[in-house]
Amino acid sequence: MSTAQTMGFQTEVKQLLQLMIHSLYSNKEIFLRELISNASDACDKLRFESLQYPELLAEDTELRIRVSYDEANKTITIEDNGIGMSREDVIAHLGTIARSGTKEFFASLTGDQQKDAQLIGQFGVGFYSAFIVAKQVQVLTRKAGLAANEAVKWVSEGQGEYTIDTVTKESRGTSITLFLNEDGEEFLNGWKLKEILRRYSDHISLPVQMPKEEYDQEAQTMKKSNEWELVNQANALWTRNKSDISEEQYKEFYKHISHDFNDPLTWTHNRVEGRSEYTQLLYIPKNAPFDLYDRDAKHGVKLYVKRVFIMDDAEQLLPNYLRFVRGIIDSADLPLNVSREILQESRDVKTIREGSAKRVLSMLEDLAENRPADYASFWAEFGQVLKEGLGEDQSNQERIAKLLRFASTHDEQATQTVSLADYVSRMKEGQDKIYYIVAESFANAKSSPHLEIFRKKGIEVLLLSDRVDEWALNFFKTFEGKSLVSISKGGLDLAAFEDEEEKKHQEEVAENVKPLVERLQTVLKDRVKTVEITNRLVDSPACVVVGQHELSPHLLRMLKSAGQ
Ligand code: ADP
Ligand code: MG
Repeated sequence: MSTAQTMGFQTEVKQLLQLMIHSLYSNKEIFLRELISNASDACDKLRFESLQYPELLAEDTELRIRVSYDEANKTITIEDNGIGMSREDVIAHLGTIARSGTKEFFASLTGDQQKDAQLIGQFGVGFYSAFIVAKQVQVLTRKAGLAANEAVKWVSEGQGEYTIDTVTKESRGTSITLFLNEDGEEFLNGWKLKEILRRYSDHISLPVQMPKEEYDQEAQTMKKSNEWELVNQANALWTRNKSDISEEQYKEFYKHISHDFNDPLTWTHNRVEGRSEYTQLLYIPKNAPFDLYDRDAKHGVKLYVKRVFIMDDAEQLLPNYLRFVRGIIDSADLPLNVSREILQESRDVKTIREGSAKRVLSMLEDLAENRPADYASFWAEFGQVLKEGLGEDQSNQERIAKLLRFASTHDEQATQTVSLADYVSRMKEGQDKIYYIVAESFANAKSSPHLEIFRKKGIEVLLLSDRVDEWALNFFKTFEGKSLVSISKGGLDLAAFEDEEEKKHQEEVAENVKPLVERLQTVLKDRVKTVEITNRLVDSPACVVVGQHELSPHLLRMLKSAGQ
């Protein structure tokens, strides 16, 4: 009985393939980066598995990646001796996209090729990028631990279908052969391949090899020998000295670990010694991922122990409000068999988490101070998440507070650019509080009648309208000794800003309207707690105010819609 089977790609894969081939046309060579990245991940996974099951490595213990090409047949082959794939693995990984955020990604496509090209970069293209340069892709793979005759052959033209068959493969791992299309033929050149590989794989800790080529005097061309030659440095990037690492290498490493197509915004690389010893290389992306607010979204930090890859997405290594950070942490103290459960309990991990959070905050402080435009772009992408830290990480609250940016009545712009320090520097004579208002949108905040008196007196008010604001401010009561006060709650005392004449005038007015207030009180007695005379309004006749210690209407609505 034949084991061959023809299967259809998941709809999203078909969409991705089409989009990619059109939008990445000018950046064809990234297929190499993606395939090398996958081969390297496969070797990392095997090395990790072999800690517990050493027999998986068998005699083939030197993990490596090989790239070769064949001019006559117009093929390029990328081969690794990593973990390999079973038939089920192949169907799951090379026929569907299981990544989180996939649904959101496809929903956000516009049909405008240029815009979508930007988006696909953020989403990450992965294995399917092979079809940019190949008219056919063949994958031959044998999973570590399975017999030679349990290997799998996967073939596709990238047109919506693939075939899969059970075959025999002598060695463990995966070999991917690209049958190049016309656009791909330019890569049939040893010199060119080496140059690209050096750029894309120099940060990888495994050896990447190509056939050694020598100049043949007689034929006057380069001739391949049977020997393999090392193309990259083959030691983990983060173990090298900072001064030996180029910007380009840092950026490539970021792309490898983050699956992001864009350069990172900034990064920090440190070796920490002392009670706990570890190396951290942490990046801030330029753009927020699609699933930043998704409860199950992956966190971006990979854990290594003594250079051995242990796990992706180690959420214990950074607090939740820094979940946008990507990178690696390599610990010298944790045991190699560390599990997620152990991570939760470990004191070493607690030290790493605290140290890493401080590092990220320093990196952001540095960005805010020295690269304000980049900080503004960071804030626009991730500011709302950072604000969660006010509640989540009270030990760093002051530092987080200094990083906050707000919209305010100072410039009346929706863009959040005002820091608390800016605000404080503009405080009026006699002002000892920081005033803010929370509303459902910037427009609502800006047009609130509560602002009238503040505008009249020239007192700045922060205009808050992010979802997280009301919650976060529950935990954030003072900044540099000045309390933060919501102007839409009761108990507002602006006496310090009033002169004698104003006070007298107000007393007179109060006397005059007393009968009206009493009538309103009777009429509205079932609907409001109390009716009071206020001097917070200038043009509007009346407004509704929440008691000083009560939840705001905005938060009440939010809680209600969340079913509480
Ligand atoms: P990603 O690397 O982001 O997971 P890819 O599209 O690059 O996405 O790869 C999809 C999946 O296919 C990988 O997660 C992995 O499970 C599998 N895969 C790809 N290449 C290899 C390989 N060389 N060896 C083993 N598994 C592989
Ligand atoms: Mg990949």
